[in-house]
Amino acid sequence: MSDSKAADVTAMCHVNPRGARIVSLGRCEICQGRGFVDGVFRDWPCAACDGAGLVVKETGEKMESTAMIEQLRLRLNGALAQNDALRRMLPDGGPSDDYLGMTNKHHIGGGNWTGD
Ligand SMILES: [Zn+2]
Repeated sequence: MSDSKAADVTAMCHVNPRGARIVSLGRCEICQGRGFVDGVFRDWPCAACDGAGLVVKETGEKMESTAMIEQLRLRLNGALAQNDALRRMLPDGGPSDDYLGMTNKHHIGGGNWTGD
């Protein structure tokens, strides 16, 4: 990646509290985000994105695998933190507790029989 493209990518990303940059990722247009392309006898990993299905959104270039793993890890950690925050916003009790196995001693969902 040239320095000007690297500067463009740096301008488009934001930094998480620990200093790691989250780069904007886009879908690989060659494989349509699947990470593989159709071959005659088998599917092949997409060479345009190294099988990730994602590329740098601004440049359309693939990332190295270690950088892609970091980007996916940052996104996963953010999504898990958001999921925990949303779960804490739920009121205590109710049908959701049954599906989490918190109220029913028999099995998950067993106390919410709907008659279907
Ligand atoms: Zn691809």
